[in-house]
Amino acid sequence: MKRLPAAVRDVPGAGGVRESNAASVLGAIRVDGPLSRAAIARHTGLSMPTVSRQVAALIELGLLREVADQSGVRAVGRPTVPVDLNDDVIAACGVHLGVSTTTYGLTNLRGRLLGSERMATPAGGPEEVLSRIAAEVRGFLRHWPERRIIGVGFAIGGQIDAERGLLDHERLGWRKVPARAVLEGVTGLPVYLDGHVPAMAAAELLFGAAGRAESSLYFYAREMVGVAVAVHGRLHRGPGQSGSIAHLPVGGDVPCSCGRTGCLEATVAELAVVERAVKAGVIAEPDIGLLRAAAEAGDPTADEILAERARALGTAAGILRDVVNPELVVLGGQAITDAPGYLGELLRTFADTTALPGTDLVEVTRFGPDVQAMAACTGLLTQLYDHPLSVLGA
Ligand SMILES: [Zn+2]
Repeated sequence: MKRLPAAVRDVPGAGGVRESNAASVLGAIRVDGPLSRAAIARHTGLSMPTVSRQVAALIELGLLREVADQSGVRAVGRPTVPVDLNDDVIAACGVHLGVSTTTYGLTNLRGRLLGSERMATPAGGPEEVLSRIAAEVRGFLRHWPERRIIGVGFAIGGQIDAERGLLDHERLGWRKVPARAVLEGVTGLPVYLDGHVPAMAAAELLFGAAGRAESSLYFYAREMVGVAVAVHGRLHRGPGQSGSIAHLPVGGDVPCSCGRTGCLEATVAELAVVERAVKAGVIAEPDIGLLRAAAEAGDPTADEILAERARALGTAAGILRDVVNPELVVLGGQAITDAPGYLGELLRTFADTTALPGTDLVEVTRFGPDVQAMAACTGLLTQLYDHPLSVLGA
């Protein structure tokens, strides 16, 4: 089995000049394709012979293909045949393990979901849980025998040791779990571990609005909260992969397990929100769908609980914006995408909180509820676009 060498994963350009030229060509086509070879040379600054060589190699690997020229311009002499990404060969699998739900999917090179499924996250010891998920994923991938599946991106909230393939997950009580080895053993594919928030931010960089911004901040909220920052198209990854905003003080009187009140995660986490609604007598079962339905039916307490969550999210996003000062803020996660009726409240609180000038820099992810599965696939696609030759074993 081919595993991405740690050095290749961590050091940009570690694959050498050939690798970085291939990545430049592939990147230009991903962003602006289809392109002729001459246009690729202009976009990348590479010579025509280098571009031609790289294009030939990338076609051979199934990453690119020649397409019919639709420009209508007939050049004199040699015809120019534009090249574009080849959507039909390569695919990336992604798995997102959530506290209650695990989602997995397969995307093509453009990050388009070819299919996805979800399952309740199994109970049991970590190795048993991972083996059962991996077995489901192996079955799921049998639906695409014609695809070359380059591996499995595995995204999870928690701390990742990408070098050794270990993960820690406080909420699940997991410590130093050899996740990569277990998952590779069952799926027979190379596995790339990533934090779920960095993976989602990477998806925004590759396929969302963040890719065109000089700097961006990705803010996520569902059962957990998280943030990731990218500058010049690269994600900042500190030790252990993710910073934490779980205990960011956003005001309010919700008690947190840390002993204080008004911490962000305790205030906005889906389970915490629905438990408050049950306690208030708004709904009988701790179910976010029931709470939304109660609010839509006009229950003022249900509405206030969801509005309070939106205000806490807006406060947090405003504080973080002032700290990082990015060009763009992208909001993701079901606390935001499943509550479009409360986005106005969130944005108003954001505008009231931020002290910097300008408040129209916030966008909601276009990935919606597919974000977790997409993100897990995209973490792997990022590796492919950065190191196409190493990932494909060329
Ligand atoms: Zn706290």
